[in-house]
Amino acid sequence: MTSERRQADLIRRAERVFTPNLRPAPVVLDHGEGVRLYDLEGREYLDFASGIAVSALGHRHPALVSAIKAQAERLLHTSNLYWNQPSIELAEKLVASCFAERVFFCNSGAEANEAAIKLARKFAHDRGETERVEILSFEGSFHGRTMGALAATAQPKYHVGFEPLPRGFTYLPFGDLEALERAASPRTAAILIEPVQGEGGVRATPEGFLAECRRLADRAGALLVFDEVQIGVGRSGKMFGHQHEGVEPDIMSLAKGIGGGLPLGAIVTTERVGASLSFGSHATTYGGNPVACCAGGVVFDALAAPGFLDRVSRVGHQLRDGLTAISAGRGLFKEVRGRGMLIGAELAPEVPFEAKAVVEACRAQGLLVHVAGPRVVRIAPPLVLDAADAALGLERFREAISALEV
Ligand SMILES: *Cc1c(COP(=O)(O)O)cnc(C)c1O
Repeated sequence: MTSERRQADLIRRAERVFTPNLRPAPVVLDHGEGVRLYDLEGREYLDFASGIAVSALGHRHPALVSAIKAQAERLLHTSNLYWNQPSIELAEKLVASCFAERVFFCNSGAEANEAAIKLARKFAHDRGETERVEILSFEGSFHGRTMGALAATAQPKYHVGFEPLPRGFTYLPFGDLEALERAASPRTAAILIEPVQGEGGVRATPEGFLAECRRLADRAGALLVFDEVQIGVGRSGKMFGHQHEGVEPDIMSLAKGIGGGLPLGAIVTTERVGASLSFGSHATTYGGNPVACCAGGVVFDALAAPGFLDRVSRVGHQLRDGLTAISAGRGLFKEVRGRGMLIGAELAPEVPFEAKAVVEACRAQGLLVHVAGPRVVRIAPPLVLDAADAALGLERFREAISALEV
């Protein structure tokens, strides 16, 4: 069978065997190298999507592959009935890199947010504040697709057909300080916020807003939770997104990039708050999986190397400037925004096509990008992207736009 027929055949089989909720591009990815991916037909793509902001070190990173191999040779799984060294070491790295003193490992972003929501309620409960159950979140947010995380996700389109959702979630307009001031009360267990909304269009919170969240959480006696599943672990150009503003939460959820491509999630918190996840109160069988945590350790060490995060910022700027230049004269984008290597380019209102069309046109030029809502093109390359490949990607982007406009 030719490689073309093999790919088409596999896609037909996929369409027969999977539920239709996901609709991947008609491409079967086969292998990767650095910031490049190759499909079954051998076509090369520059990866500016990272499998939704995950593959922080790109593909087939030598240190990552050899660490995973070595750990697989030793031990794949322990459960949380026993300790394992990779999880202890990764937890120590997390604690050393931010406000946190305690860590809980799980397997995904949704699961991390479930843990954050449960911990916020349990913390209030432990202090006898049984009325303090409410979670405040913001329109346009995305916190995951399990029931609790979905209830926190203030975008009705994700809720349709899945009600009833858990109670105790209140949605506020994005960045609306007065609404937050009115809503934060003795019933508030936590304010839950992404320092930069990812799925909601790559929107940073207005300057100073995180500090106001901190102040109002303290005033109401509530906890502050940052969902850094997407912006955390280096993507912003600092280790964590909130470190751009010097505001610290009580709990932070992490996933996506932290495992370098293996499923890994975490919440990190203070000793005082973390104590409420007392023995037997919360757990997950795979939590702290040694292979996933060992991968996480390699990711952390890479990010902590001198100059790494500065380059993320610098090349991120290059990408934003390049996109702005492509837009100039054409009126393609209303705004190019984001932080570090999480970039959103919002199509101008008069542009007659949707972001999805840009994704497809880019793919035809050998460039993988993603959307963040119908009108925003999302660019989130592996954090190892260098200036030369950034320039090549921008060139392909320009060609894709030219092809769309004819
Ligand atoms: C992707 C994402 C989640 C959900 O993570 P999953 O691993 O898909 O469950 C939660 N919060 C944010 C900010 C995300 O970007």
